[in-house]
Amino acid sequence: MKNMPSLTLPMPAWFRASIGARIIAFSLALLFLIQIASFSAIRASLGQHARSALPAQLLTGERVLLSLLDQNAQKLSEGARLLAADYGFRSAVQSNDAETIASVLGNHGARIGASEAALLGTDFTLRAASGSDTRELAALAARLAPQAARGGAASEIALLGGTPHQVVLVPMKAPIVVGWVLMGFPIDTQLTTDMRALSALNVTLLARSAAGAPWTPVLTSLPSAMADDFAHQPWSVASIEADPVMRAVSFDQEQYGVHVKRLTPDAAGPAVLALVSLSIDDAVRPPRDLQIGLALITGLGLIVFLIGAIVATRRVTTPLRALSTAADRLGSGDYGAPIHGLERHDEMGHLARAFNQMRISVGEKQEQILKLAYWDALTGLPNRVQFRDAVRDAIAAAQARPDGGHTTIAVIMLDLDRFKHVNDVLGYRVGDLLLGRVGERLSQQMVRGGDLVARLGGDEFAVLLRNGDASLAESVAARIGAAFDAPLTLEEHTVDMGAGIGIACWPQHAADADVLLSRAEVAMYAAKRRTQGPLMYDASFDAASAQTLSLLTELRQAVERGELRLYLQPKLSLDSGKVSGAEALVRWAHPTRGLVPPMEFVPFAEQTGFIRTLTMWVFEEAARHWLALHAEGLPLTLSVNLSTRDLLDPDLPQKFDALLVKHRVPAEAYCLEITESAIMDDPARALATLNKLSGLGFKLSIDDFGTGYSSLAYLKRLPVDELKIDKSFVMSMEKDLDDAKIVRSTIDLAHNLGLTVVAEGVENVKAWDMLRELECDEAQGYHMGKPMPAAEFIVWSAAWMAKHPGLAAAATSPLMFH
Ligand code: C2E
Ligand code: CA
Ligand code: CA
Repeated sequence: MKNMPSLTLPMPAWFRASIGARIIAFSLALLFLIQIASFSAIRASLGQHARSALPAQLLTGERVLLSLLDQNAQKLSEGARLLAADYGFRSAVQSNDAETIASVLGNHGARIGASEAALLGTDFTLRAASGSDTRELAALAARLAPQAARGGAASEIALLGGTPHQVVLVPMKAPIVVGWVLMGFPIDTQLTTDMRALSALNVTLLARSAAGAPWTPVLTSLPSAMADDFAHQPWSVASIEADPVMRAVSFDQEQYGVHVKRLTPDAAGPAVLALVSLSIDDAVRPPRDLQIGLALITGLGLIVFLIGAIVATRRVTTPLRALSTAADRLGSGDYGAPIHGLERHDEMGHLARAFNQMRISVGEKQEQILKLAYWDALTGLPNRVQFRDAVRDAIAAAQARPDGGHTTIAVIMLDLDRFKHVNDVLGYRVGDLLLGRVGERLSQQMVRGGDLVARLGGDEFAVLLRNGDASLAESVAARIGAAFDAPLTLEEHTVDMGAGIGIACWPQHAADADVLLSRAEVAMYAAKRRTQGPLMYDASFDAASAQTLSLLTELRQAVERGELRLYLQPKLSLDSGKVSGAEALVRWAHPTRGLVPPMEFVPFAEQTGFIRTLTMWVFEEAARHWLALHAEGLPLTLSVNLSTRDLLDPDLPQKFDALLVKHRVPAEAYCLEITESAIMDDPARALATLNKLSGLGFKLSIDDFGTGYSSLAYLKRLPVDELKIDKSFVMSMEKDLDDAKIVRSTIDLAHNLGLTVVAEGVENVKAWDMLRELECDEAQGYHMGKPMPAAEFIVWSAAWMAKHPGLAAAATSPLMFH
């Protein structure tokens, strides 16, 4: 079908768009072809039939012609006999008066239509004649003599004066034969007229004056041009005798069937041929009424077929069109309207049912997707997308109201404090429970209809007050803040919650929904920073948060521009009081903001993954410092902090190893500090990295111990050497007995596991002494020294030694170089 040339024809668009029209056109064309074929078949068989009957028809025509000629001859013989018996004529003959005889012959002959008349003697010699050419008559008489002598009379068709004549020869008796009467009658148009009346055939007589002479038409019922044409056909007397049936002759693009008969008895010399002819095309052409009948049947058939095809295609295309409009409806998101035609038992019904099934399941999926897209699965609250839509709708509705200028819409946004901590310490299940409870608490605060509570993601929630001015929003926010003051009980845990709460109002703070949400968020972060309860948005907050953003971009450039500094904070042996090492802590010497503490950019670096670059920088910088300290006679172990992202980098050990080689520093120069939570994020991967690092010879330390959720039993499986008690315990140790107990038991357990223990956050001598008593190994803290630039550190070291003269100079390091 694809390659059918008809498809390449230019067709109107409606035709190409309609299957129905194409089916109808196709079937009509098919029917039309069938009709044409059957018409041609009928026509051909009729023609064949007619053609086969032609020779017989012509033969019959010949018989009719011959019998007409015969009748004519009889009639003329009769006339001649009457003349021969005429008394006057006989007496004239007996008187032997040639002149009288000739005139009587002429008169009598004229009366019966003879053009020639002659009297012959008993020996058939010419005695008298009324015609013109006596020689011709004498020759004729001689030719007829034998026939007459045998049968008592004779007749023949002969050329007299170039025209065919019926010639008769009858005896004249008195009572014995006393002579013969010869008469010639010209053959005239009566013959052709009779012939047409009897047989509807045409007759043409051709004559030639001598053998080999051309034939000329002498009598015809055909148009003379056609008769001339017939005369010029190569008629040969011999072939006529051999093939007497029919010859086809064409004239003027029409075919004629011609049957030839020689009328003169002699084959040689002058002769007359009779051509009986008819038009083959006329005979073969089906009759007109049959043609009209067939055309009518075809026309009627086409009309009936057209109607049938239209009805049939309607039955197919109507449901198809219904399905396609249904599909359009589905496409535009209307899954509600049912599909028609389900009750049908045919293929259309099947299609409609399948389609309907599809509509239902797509509708359900759509509903699910909508639910997923607009609802938070954990709390069952609307999600960020729905909340944003609701804010937009509320603004649009307020704008549409005639008093729109007096409506205020408020958004309160809150972010839980320490949620990550809850997740880390109590696990994700408890974290999820907590989020659910927070959602409930918030919903309980919102008793006004029309207000909307949503979870925007993570530990972020929001409330929409559709009709609330700034003071109402502030009182609601205060109520929410108060609600968070009461601790939450989750299973056996009691959790102190808190939240940063920000408020923004439309139209005061923002012109549209997105800006309103981001303003509320900015206010929320500001509230988190200040920790003094809910905050209403203020333009000054934006500058702060913009700073935070640009910080991230600047941080990338900080390394390249050499703005980072590495500070060292001493670690001392509690037992001997000697400097045993230092922790490397990064600072950012910002061109405009001064020295930026790590807590303001390390978390950002961790979020963006930039921390890996930062760690590499610290590691290399520590190598340089170590070499410098070594040169000063201070072979100290430098502690470097690793973050979660570093631990998850499987190439980290290899990178470190490469740097050791590059700077010609031994792995033992480093102690790598890892927090518990960094390990617990993906323990399997962390363990693999730690094993490799330990294998390379790095000392490993668990930082901020006590704040995480890991147990000492678990730590036993890690290849660590050192445990660093978090400064929060150390700093409150003197006042809080519980914390003191924790420090004590941690030290004991760590020693049991073969680990050295470092206490950080030693801010006074009391803490120093306590830790000494508890047999803690090392101490780090402001009491001894704050983090300081490397150059200062060397000076500080010397001062520390001078202050504590009991201390011997640190022994030369036994460490080997790579
Ligand atoms: P951290 O690893 O626990 O580092 C110890 C922090 O405690 C340092 O803060 C240090 O100045 C502070 N500190 C030491 N002794 C005392 C004391 O007696 N009292 C008080 N109140 N604080 C004391 P810093 O330098 O501000 O660093 C904060 C945190 O930033 C670090 O905590 C560490 O987690 C991160 N950090 C710093 N430098 C780097 C770094 O190069 N890489 C990575 N990944 N993190 C770093
Ligand atoms: Ca540390
Ligand atoms: Ca620490």
